[in-house]
Amino acid sequence: MNTLFQAERIDGKGFATRLVERLADDVSMLKTKTGLTPGLAVVLVGEDPASGVYVGAKHRQTQAVGMESYVHRLPAQTSQEALMTLLGQLNADPAVNGILVQLPLPAHLDTHSVINAIDPNKDVDGFHILNAGRLATGQDALVPCTPLGCLMMLKDRLGDLSGLNAVVVGKSNIVGKPMAQLLLAENCTVSIAHSKTRNVPELCRTADILVVAVGRPEMVKGDWIKPGAVVIDVGINRVQREGQPGIVGDVAFAEAGHAAAITPVPGGVGPMTIACLLANTLTAFRRQHNLNTPTAR
Ligand code: NDP
Repeated sequence: MNTLFQAERIDGKGFATRLVERLADDVSMLKTKTGLTPGLAVVLVGEDPASGVYVGAKHRQTQAVGMESYVHRLPAQTSQEALMTLLGQLNADPAVNGILVQLPLPAHLDTHSVINAIDPNKDVDGFHILNAGRLATGQDALVPCTPLGCLMMLKDRLGDLSGLNAVVVGKSNIVGKPMAQLLLAENCTVSIAHSKTRNVPELCRTADILVVAVGRPEMVKGDWIKPGAVVIDVGINRVQREGQPGIVGDVAFAEAGHAAAITPVPGGVGPMTIACLLANTLTAFRRQHNLNTPTAR
């Protein structure tokens, strides 16, 4: 890393730790007020090792804030019908306020149908077509956790985002598209780049806010970043460096010293994702019980 590295490292881990503390207080307040314990159900189909690690982390953190965690581990050959039956049961269960199906699903299952079978009011991943539509039309939605965490960090660093040029690299339904919608709702001027975009570096250089969610190690080079930009690196890429396994983002972090601020990988966006999942579960609980108080932020 060069000695002129002046960018602030946005401490997503610390931010998430403080948010989770506030959410634990929120859970305890809701329990006292309603006599009920908010609950999150996570469904894992198959034995994908990375998915297993994510589900384990979600289970532990859900319990740590005082909520109920219901983990359903199903074999890889589970049929679409069996999965739909389970989702129907979780939709009908009043103890379950949030439902998440861990993606990716095995190839024989139809992801869109599975996601759209979740009650939209329990869809704490915010992937249901109704929540995507509500977000796009400026209505109250459950918002996908990763972009929600990115937005919280951006607003914490920049305050009012209105009028800023935002470039989102990546257009997945999970990160890129909802991120762009959230920035648009904050009155940013938003561009979305993807694999067919003609001149990605030039577009990135226009960004006051640059969010990168591609899945390519250190694709965004230092000279793609405008001096003073705020950079959010969503990528998680497993790499070998000098024979050792490691994790890097989609941005060449060491070349980004002229940015105003940047999230490191690891320790940036990742920890915020689970914190926002817990927050979404409390928002879903509130809506299901007609409570008007806002979820802790
Ligand atoms: P997807 O593979 O679904 O989407 C990747 C996007 O990047 C696509 O829109 C693709 O374009 C675009 N892309 C690919 N190559 C290029 C290129 N050369 N130039 C510009 N755009 C390109 O990935 P996800 O959105 O699910 O995830 C992205 C990254 O974020 C991954 O590393 C993932 O691990 C990480 N991630 C991290 C999370 C966290 O909690 N920190 C949560 C979720 C994801 P096209 O659509 O044209 O193919």
